[in-house]
Amino acid sequence: MKLKKIPAEYRQALPILEKIVKAGHEAYFVGGSVRDVLLNHPIHDVDIATSAFPEEIKQIFPKTIDVGIEHGTVLVLEKSGQYEITTFRTESIYQDFRRPEQVEFVRSLKKDLQRRDFTINAFAIREDGEIIDLFNGLEDLDNHILRAVGNPYERFSEDALRMMRGLRFVSQLGFTLEEKTFEAIKENSQLLQKISVERIHTEFVKLLLGEYRKKGIQNFVASYCFSYCPGLAGKENELLALASLPEKTIEYESQAWVLLIDQLAMKEADIRTFLKGWKCSNEMIKTVQAVFHGLQIRKQQAFTADALYQLGESQAILVEGLLPFYDKLPDFEKVRSDYQQLPIHSLKELAVNGHDLMEYFDKKPGSWLKKQLNDLENAVLHGQIANRKEDLLHAAKRKQADLEKGC
Ligand code: ATP
Ligand code: MG
Repeated sequence: MKLKKIPAEYRQALPILEKIVKAGHEAYFVGGSVRDVLLNHPIHDVDIATSAFPEEIKQIFPKTIDVGIEHGTVLVLEKSGQYEITTFRTESIYQDFRRPEQVEFVRSLKKDLQRRDFTINAFAIREDGEIIDLFNGLEDLDNHILRAVGNPYERFSEDALRMMRGLRFVSQLGFTLEEKTFEAIKENSQLLQKISVERIHTEFVKLLLGEYRKKGIQNFVASYCFSYCPGLAGKENELLALASLPEKTIEYESQAWVLLIDQLAMKEADIRTFLKGWKCSNEMIKTVQAVFHGLQIRKQQAFTADALYQLGESQAILVEGLLPFYDKLPDFEKVRSDYQQLPIHSLKELAVNGHDLMEYFDKKPGSWLKKQLNDLENAVLHGQIANRKEDLLHAAKRKQADLEKGC
């Protein structure tokens, strides 16, 4: 079967395929982009697979970078763009249920497609648009079925991450795992313990952000994979509660973690340990803590000036975006305008700083200074004092007199 319409991204990359073919080798578009083209979804990366060995690719194209030469991947820099070209390979040596350390370059497209995870990820498209479909992926695509290529039990024990990939494709595409494929995941779920948390994290976040999150989480639970993920063992009911939230796609990773943590009824003090277990970055942890805190306020009432000031605009918007999951209407415009109208947005905007106060009182820094700045910041934020230097120094003077009297 031929591709009905060649998408612009492929048209642009066609000269690359043609050059490789002219040099006497085979070259195809492969991987996720082919699946996405056939589903009429937008494409992100165009992957090219070839029978040419990396050294042969380097002879064809003058400008290349060895981005993953040990796995057969060369980045080709051409006028039309940059493309990763990977030599057909097999991954025969799997150690300890993880992706192989060594790969073997081969000349056979079939062998390359055979090592791929699901039939819908195992197509190749030739330069004339012909779709090579060796595993009936087109039929699975039509029927919305996710089926492992070959024997699913073997495939998941070769590389256990494939199970998490399968679950995230359920969530992204709304497809159903074929019966044996699902059974094999259920049976092998404990092998996830062998996989690095970083790799599981990537797939889990994609699962949470998928359009069909409900189905994805339900499969994640039913296959027992959740039991082998950080901090989720025994949390079946909480995960199912997460699956039952209103069916709206979650926009950002931080929001996904907040919703999960909220369903887990976690204490604020435990968020850090939980997310560290998932190897989240410190920046992500900070955002999740702030958004989680803001959400607890916002679920009950409108944002206070203090809450808006502490969150900042972008985090307040992240909180607002979570309201529909609690059957509440968000009002982004109001959050934006309330935030803009705050008298100050950070300590930097206060019309006096520490130096001004030290000079004014002719005093060395100390706890008095922190207290003064804090009180002035609060008073300005709540509109009790105008943010003008002389007003602030005046207020500070009165305060200092009180402090020195020991009030
Ligand atoms: P996405 O659209 O999220 O990038 P993808 O399917 O393209 O999804 P990639 O990680 O970019 O995922 O992988 C590209 C292709 O490589 C896949 O479509 C699949 O054919 C193959 N692949 C990736 N990971 C594995 C794996 N663990 N086992 C077998 N094949 C894999
Ligand atoms: Mg991809």
